[in-house]
Amino acid sequence: MTSPTPLLRILSLGAGVQSSTIALMMANGEIPPADRAIFADTHAEPAEVYRHLDRLLPRLPFPTDVVSAGDLGAEILAATAGAGRNDARPPFYVKNPNGSRGILRRQCTGDYKIDVIRKRVRELLGVERGRRVPADVMVTQVIGISLDEAGRMKVSQDKWQTNEYPLVDRRISRWECERWLAKNWCERFGYPMPPKSACVFCPYRRNVEWRRLRDEAPEDFQRAVDIDRAIRSPGYGRLVGECYVHDSMVPLELVDLSTAAENGQPNLWDDECDGMCGV
Ligand code: SF4
Repeated sequence: MTSPTPLLRILSLGAGVQSSTIALMMANGEIPPADRAIFADTHAEPAEVYRHLDRLLPRLPFPTDVVSAGDLGAEILAATAGAGRNDARPPFYVKNPNGSRGILRRQCTGDYKIDVIRKRVRELLGVERGRRVPADVMVTQVIGISLDEAGRMKVSQDKWQTNEYPLVDRRISRWECERWLAKNWCERFGYPMPPKSACVFCPYRRNVEWRRLRDEAPEDFQRAVDIDRAIRSPGYGRLVGECYVHDSMVPLELVDLSTAAENGQPNLWDDECDGMCGV
């Protein structure tokens, strides 16, 4: 039996380095173009990500749908105040009463990224809520994962959708994306390198990223500090432990974010954070 021909080719636009590279390679004719891109907005990205989107979207030869399940930061704050949903949760670190470390189950990626993109694709296909996508319909979702992150590739859970990873297929690493962008984006248009895209309070950040946020985007860092303080409200997440955004389980404004080298230790790794949810 032959597979149905894809009806729709969607770029899942995270607005970071990798998906921006794909979008611009599509614009350059180096990758077959998408019919449209979809950006799932948590309303919690650093301001620089939104500035980057303002520059990027007019350069693309296809439309971009900006979809959203709401303001993730506002939902978290509402939950800490005992209002609203209490399950819109990033994988915050939890200090248990015995001092051990736990981590919350990640709910945010599914609710604020995957589900809203899936909902928009179904709308584009004209499939009503609760109805099955017809067997002869196939969608390709193009995803920005680079060769160095190939372990994050997944098979789509929807039978009507296939995932495509053009950077992995072309053996392009994140570093090569940055080199390509330096020439085709920064030099050509005079724009800065696309920033990392991730919610300002995303606990997946490593120190290098927290430090960059603190030093280069103090307002975004303050938003993360505010969320970090708020999630220690009794009752947040119906937990007995205390939540933190930083894996040291220290309040974010008190964390020592100095580099290993600054502490007199050898810097063995370039502790770069992938900063994305894997959508
Ligand atoms: S960037 Fe982090 S906090 Fe934001 S949706 Fe993804 S995993 Fe959750």
